[in-house]
Amino acid sequence: MCPECYSSYKRITPLRNPEECLAQHRQYMCSTCGRFICVSTEKHGKFRALFPFQSLEKAKLYLRSAEVLLKKPCGIYEFENTQGRSQFKIFSSETDVELYLKKKQE
Ligand SMILES: [Zn+2]
Ligand SMILES: [Zn+2]
Repeated sequence: MCPECYSSYKRITPLRNPEECLAQHRQYMCSTCGRFICVSTEKHGKFRALFPFQSLEKAKLYLRSAEVLLKKPCGIYEFENTQGRSQFKIFSSETDVELYLKKKQE
């Protein structure tokens, strides 16, 4: 596994529409293995790494990009959605996790 970006597959990302993503979105390039990770930000400062992932493996692929953009070490947290399925989200602090859980309950 790459010690910098946490993946053993340097061509695994982008996961969706790779051509469009590489051509049009800002990319973070891992300086160890050369893997590109999409760091394109949306209007409200959101980026792919902050949205829920279907699996831990996929979340791990974006963990490094979250750390780069947030400039902090991050962790992956598992949640169950209303259908009882697992979702994985990246957060940079326990406070952010608590805020997210609070919002979800509203
Ligand atoms: Zn992209
Ligand atoms: Zn790497």
